[in-house]
Amino acid sequence: MPTFRDLLAQAKSDIREVDTAEAARLLAEKPGSLVLDVREADEYDQGALPGALHIPRGFLESQVENKAPDRDQPIVVYCAGGTRSAFAARTLGDLGYSDVVSMAGGFNKWKGEDRDWSTPRTLSPEQRNRYQRHLLLPEVGDEGQQKLLDAKVLLLGAGGLGSPAALYLAAAGVGTIGVVDMDVVDESNLQRQILHNLDRVGERKVDSAKKTLTALNPDVDVVTYDVRLGADNVLDVIDGYVVIVDGTDNFPTRYLVNDASLLKRIPVVHGSIFRFEGQVTVFAPYEGPCYRCLVPEPPPADLAPSCAEAGVLGVLPGIVGSIQAMEAIKIVLGLGETLAGRLLAYDALEETFRSFKVGRDPQCPACGPDAGEIVIAEYDDLCMPHPRTA
Ligand SMILES: [Zn+2]
Repeated sequence: MPTFRDLLAQAKSDIREVDTAEAARLLAEKPGSLVLDVREADEYDQGALPGALHIPRGFLESQVENKAPDRDQPIVVYCAGGTRSAFAARTLGDLGYSDVVSMAGGFNKWKGEDRDWSTPRTLSPEQRNRYQRHLLLPEVGDEGQQKLLDAKVLLLGAGGLGSPAALYLAAAGVGTIGVVDMDVVDESNLQRQILHNLDRVGERKVDSAKKTLTALNPDVDVVTYDVRLGADNVLDVIDGYVVIVDGTDNFPTRYLVNDASLLKRIPVVHGSIFRFEGQVTVFAPYEGPCYRCLVPEPPPADLAPSCAEAGVLGVLPGIVGSIQAMEAIKIVLGLGETLAGRLLAYDALEETFRSFKVGRDPQCPACGPDAGEIVIAEYDDLCMPHPRTA
């Protein structure tokens, strides 16, 4: 019967072991390398190599193929001292991973030599509980939830579309939500703008939104902009956000946001509603079409009645705004196929969704190859891009 010593000696003879200096050299020379930490969670929480993937030894066989699918990726595996990582390296070899080394001396030696390490950001017990249903999805997991908590999403409008979008983004743990709106809450809003309530009538919409979202999830920092979005402020307001959720209902603002987001290369999740119909798409700057590719110029004012004039069934913005929140979260997580290059049309009376391919317009005055330099300025009723000299 072999002893532990025999097993360890056998494992070490089957694998390639390197010292900390050699591991550091390998990681520096092969930037695509994976650092794999196989210690227990409480050890990992105290400090780890920068960017390390953490899979406790006991979960290695069951989780590694999902988390590190490329079997030819160079891997440096470590534990506290080099024993667990030796066994882990052998297991990885058995699973077909071709370029694995185990770091002798482990994290203790690495740290003792003053090499680079950091305390990993981990979710608090309250967060683990709150986001449990996200953590159960391998496509989201701890890493995805951390991405959401780090993400900054900007909502244009705290109205019909902005309400459900804001509620779901806040519930999902999007760490920073900017809200732009210059209106006050009116009783007639409450038929669809579920961020607000009767007690808030007369209050600034951004303040009402902040109260609702903060009460829902204290992880969320709600940044309010009680301003009219204009040429003078749009670039400052959108700066630093990774996604813009556009719930505005007027053409000049849409064109303004389009041009500014192209300049800043921020994707826009566009939603619009009319009576019983809604549309959603994603404008991914210079990858898919922009708003101007689809709507080169605004329709005449008498053919484009606003929501206030045309009426809207209250649930409709709830559905469209929720899809916008879904797209924003997918963009943050890099998950699935977004609606970039597709327009999703919802008809409430037929209860149907249809999706149309939409392409970039080579003649687009904003994102086309011959488009001039984008200059942000106030738009008149025609909303045409401003020439360089404007
Ligand atoms: Zn375009």
